Amino acid sequence: MDAPAVLNAEAVKRQARTLGFDLCGIAPVDNHAELSFLQEWLDRGYAGEMAWIGRSADRRADVRNVMPDARCVIVTGTVYSGPTPPPPSGDAGSPPVGIIARYARGDDYHDVLTARLDALVSWMRAESSESFDARAYVDTGPVQERVYAQYGGLGWIGKNTCLINAELGSWLFLAEIICSLPLEPDTQGLEQCGACNKCIEACPTGALVEPGVLDSNRCLSYLTIELRGSIAEEHRAALGVHVYGCDICQDVCPYNQVPPRSDDRAWHARPGLDLPRLIDLWRRPDTELLRLTKGSAMRRAKLTGLRRNLAVAIGNSGDEEACSALAESSAERPSADDPMVREHVQWAMGQRARAKPFVPRAPVSSSQ
Ligand code: SF4
Ligand code: SF4
Repeated sequence: MDAPAVLNAEAVKRQARTLGFDLCGIAPVDNHAELSFLQEWLDRGYAGEMAWIGRSADRRADVRNVMPDARCVIVTGTVYSGPTPPPPSGDAGSPPVGIIARYARGDDYHDVLTARLDALVSWMRAESSESFDARAYVDTGPVQERVYAQYGGLGWIGKNTCLINAELGSWLFLAEIICSLPLEPDTQGLEQCGACNKCIEACPTGALVEPGVLDSNRCLSYLTIELRGSIAEEHRAALGVHVYGCDICQDVCPYNQVPPRSDDRAWHARPGLDLPRLIDLWRRPDTELLRLTKGSAMRRAKLTGLRRNLAVAIGNSGDEEACSALAESSAERPSADDPMVREHVQWAMGQRARAKPFVPRAPVSSSQ
């Protein structure tokens, strides 16, 4: 009789690639030094209003606090950088456009990657002669996934806090499985930022307070996505025309200068989410905005958050027509009547008196 099949790391990684993951590595479960910085980061107040991170700090400190019999973390990376439109021309006369972070322009990665991780776990259970525990997370669990990605050999944590792979760059979704199987671990990825500081220098708000340390309170991604209430006036100008998230510290990274393009249609930008004209987005009824963002990660900001961001972006654009549109009332846009949104609209309309800054404008040849 054949000996029972023993699942090995190479077989898991092969299957991960078959399921559409571009990278897969095995991180050992250990007291990795980087894990312990979380508490200091929280103590410094860098989590802003994301109190849920503090509530799960104990579990985030070690995956064994999530699964006591954990022996490894299977970490996957998926390239999401798809085709992008030509850069904004800046031509006078073309309406200003809003910037949405690349990861949020297509389908919601939580949905897509959870299905793929579940398929990987199912395959492992079918192939393994041993029973085992496994928990899959896509940015949803108390796991410091970038640390495990580094120890799983996927790359290193850059000064911009992103996981960088020397060949694929940082436009990567990370997703992982905490597992009780003793799979052979990979070798830790080595730091390759060197003397480069481009991301720190490019951040418009100084949110990267030290190499690899982010103060969320100043980060445009936090301000446009996670923050639920009012954006402090001191930060509004720095938002520019960012409507959802910010990619600046990845755009400037040398490892992203020739980024691999994903052919996966799940990540391709939906019509209306690739350099959308600010005025068009603002004028959409709430029902249309909901339809546009259905099954998209952009739902996280809620309608009022999106309207708030649009108002600030329009104010920063200095565009007369778009500012006038803010004053239009419509029963189809009840989220625009939210008091918090209205206050940002008032602020935006007050920006008309300021000198107009340069802001990206829609390409003349754009089909939008
Ligand atoms: S996402 Fe934008 S605001 Fe946040 S650290 Fe990077 S460059 Fe700065
Ligand atoms: S821009 Fe430079 S310092 Fe920043 S993450 Fe990329 S390589 Fe590292």
